[in-house]
Amino acid sequence: MVVSALALGGILAAFSSDLSRVMVARTRAQTAADAAALGAAQQLLVPSGASAEAVARELAKANGGTLVACRCDAGSAEARVTVAVEVGLPLLAQVRTVRASARAVIAAPPGTEGLAPSFVAALSCLFDVVDGLWIVSGFRTRAEQAALHEQKPDLAAPPGSSNHEVGLAADLGYPSNDAERAAHALAPSCGLRFPVPYEPWHVEPIAA
Ligand SMILES: [Zn+2]
Repeated sequence: MVVSALALGGILAAFSSDLSRVMVARTRAQTAADAAALGAAQQLLVPSGASAEAVARELAKANGGTLVACRCDAGSAEARVTVAVEVGLPLLAQVRTVRASARAVIAAPPGTEGLAPSFVAALSCLFDVVDGLWIVSGFRTRAEQAALHEQKPDLAAPPGSSNHEVGLAADLGYPSNDAERAAHALAPSCGLRFPVPYEPWHVEPIAA
């Protein structure tokens, strides 16, 4: 009786230690997934050469995990990652894989409603590197474009011909001339361009 109780106690102790290994691995996988998702989103926001997936893989590894999946295509406004951590279970003589997922979303600047997601990500990049920018005018319906064209026929394109109507143009507000210069200098590194020389506020994605 005493012997079997002791044996049972030993098994329970081993089992609970296996269980705590799983818990630890789960926490590690979540930490690694969080770090990988944040790093990938940062890379989407301000690209620096490496792909967002490569950054996520690095960060997952640095946190003791292995990147299983990264939905983090360039131009996307969010990163979703899944990370795996292997855990050895001595009692069961097994190696189990624990997975965790995380998602990081790039915060969109106010006024970007209706704009294309890849353009919003590019604008977020620019707003991140130049302080104080704002959006004066973003997406416009055809009717809004028509009304604006009637008001300012020299500046606003006729309805049906503006990239504002398809969510691929925005007019920026600048807090200073320095900010305007900085925005123009840094736009290409965020995938943006100012295609109209006499409209230094009108920005579009390079790929538009
Ligand atoms: Zn414009």
